[in-house]
Amino acid sequence: MKAIDWSNVGFGYMKTDYNVRCRYSNGKWGEIEVSSEETLNIHMAATCLHYGQEAFEGLKAFRGKDGKVRIFRLEANAERLQNTCEGILMPKVSVELFRQMVTKVVELNKDYIPPYESGASLYIRPLLIGISAQVGVHPANEYMFVIFVTPVGPYFKGGFSTNPYVIIREYDRSAPLGTGRYKVGGNYAASLKANQLAHEKGYSCEFYLDAKEKKYIDECGAANFIGIKDNTYVTPLSTSILPSITNRSLQQLAKDMGMKVEQRAIPEEELATFEEAGACGTAAVISPIERIDDLERGTSYVIAKDGKPGPVCTKLYNKLRAIQYGDDPDTYGWVTVLDI
Ligand SMILES: *Cc1c(COP(=O)(O)O)cnc(C)c1O
Repeated sequence: MKAIDWSNVGFGYMKTDYNVRCRYSNGKWGEIEVSSEETLNIHMAATCLHYGQEAFEGLKAFRGKDGKVRIFRLEANAERLQNTCEGILMPKVSVELFRQMVTKVVELNKDYIPPYESGASLYIRPLLIGISAQVGVHPANEYMFVIFVTPVGPYFKGGFSTNPYVIIREYDRSAPLGTGRYKVGGNYAASLKANQLAHEKGYSCEFYLDAKEKKYIDECGAANFIGIKDNTYVTPLSTSILPSITNRSLQQLAKDMGMKVEQRAIPEEELATFEEAGACGTAAVISPIERIDDLERGTSYVIAKDGKPGPVCTKLYNKLRAIQYGDDPDTYGWVTVLDI
């Protein structure tokens, strides 16, 4: 293991030893290459640079108490990347190629996988880009699939805690029939101004309503919304949100705990009725919501009345983390175990 001060690792980029790459040309994927270069040498007219032909994924590997390494929901991430490929006309990466490359890059950088006790993990970032030189707008015929990894610290350094959000109406992250459901960089570019505005106003993140009617809850920044009330787990059904794999996993765990799960349109006013709420995604699992302010209407939906994470979010969070670290059994086959 590398001499890294694991307790001070944040959520940023840290250089590791290797990344893996695979090129698509002449209608097929080539051999997997191992590289220790951090840069990509691509043509200045590459479609990813001009027309946003870029997709990414994000997943994590965890070192368990038993010393084994567990990659969480590798197949689900591979399938979602395939769905993104369909969405922006890129050739699909097979689940098998995705699996080979992810396991290879994790094995090659095993010295960067944080120890169990640190609460940190290894973030895995697959990236697919169109690289052929083009000026006209049409899909590329050459692509590069790269996967790099970087150690990331525990999201909650000072312990699991709540955050304030603000509804932003001035900017939309995605449109109902746009690319919000795909994991593409363009959605993030579209979110930068809203995010900056939220930070300027002193909030931890922006909160989006649906772009068409501004009536229903869409996403909380770059995370899915979940609300808890009456032993029910409620999450938005919308064509403009990214189908979070964490959300899907939490829904299963909620059912296992005897809760009802509802995926449906959630009107803004319903925020007043939740006992607990959170933003969910790979980075934090669940980031509990303290309150959501609607400055335009002068309303503040205070969810965590005592400012603390609620019991249901805490239980779901602990259960998912326990599966990821191998402390609890992997009943649904979510984990790829590597003996490295
Ligand atoms: C990646 C992402 C999420 C979370 O998805 P997970 O699979 O749970 O990590 C939520 N919203 C957006 C916009 C995302 O890009």
